[in-house]
Amino acid sequence: MSQNNSAPALLTVSGLHKAFADNQVLKGINFTVHAGEVVALIGPSGSGKTTALRCLNGLEIPNAGTVAFAGGPEVQFTAGMKPKSAQVLRQRSAMVFQGHHLFPHFTVLQNVTAGPLEVQKRPREEVLDQATALLARVGLADKAQAYPSSLSGGQQQRVGIVRALMLKPDLLLFDEPTSALDPELVGEVLVVIKELAQEGWSMVLVTHELAFARDVADTVVFMDGGVVVETGPASQVLSTPQNPRTQAFMQRLLHPF
Ligand code: ADP
Ligand code: MG
Repeated sequence: MSQNNSAPALLTVSGLHKAFADNQVLKGINFTVHAGEVVALIGPSGSGKTTALRCLNGLEIPNAGTVAFAGGPEVQFTAGMKPKSAQVLRQRSAMVFQGHHLFPHFTVLQNVTAGPLEVQKRPREEVLDQATALLARVGLADKAQAYPSSLSGGQQQRVGIVRALMLKPDLLLFDEPTSALDPELVGEVLVVIKELAQEGWSMVLVTHELAFARDVADTVVFMDGGVVVETGPASQVLSTPQNPRTQAFMQRLLHPF
């Protein structure tokens, strides 16, 4: 959206390998996110998109490779590394999951303030002010005291976005944020993500919404079989993909039957 490819690199991912038992899921992933850039990560189901995203946030420990944020941390993964060693990555990024993953017994306000208060240990008043402003901004000012079960899927997912923003990350990670929603609720979530992109947030967005990717993404990274097959400007990769595997994937999405 902001065409920031000349901006400095915010995140550099190199040589990321991840296996689950003998299932080699990531086979050497490389890509870069520049400051202010929106990177759409697309590819067939099972190609390793979620696993790649989770590695960036220290939720999975790759077997090899490096995840490096400009100004740190830089984590070089080695076999047998302890999960704690990767948690430093959460200082820089925050994840919005496919399902919202809210605590059912917490109110909306408690859900979005728990991380800043208990993990980041920030002052209560500042955290409450920030939460009030962010909830208002996504149209949920009147839902602070509501429980997640009383909200629609679209509202729950907007709370999930606020929870990520509350951590003041430098990079937002979205894993198919609308794929679990009823079709009529998709738009209200995409609008929020698009506004964040326009504001200059850096993000990696896993999505099957190609029209949305074309609209908001600067760069498309296409993954298949645990490798990055093609990467380039969104308009180019989505309109005239060069690699046969990218072409076949686009055809399947555009003409599913
Ligand atoms: P995508 O998001 O592109 O659909 P995933 O990263 O979810 O792909 O999954 C890629 C592969 O990794 C799949 O074969 C999946 O079964 C496997 N996988 C993902 N997470 C785990 C896990 N926690 N344990 C074992 N296998 C996993
Ligand atoms: Mg996935």
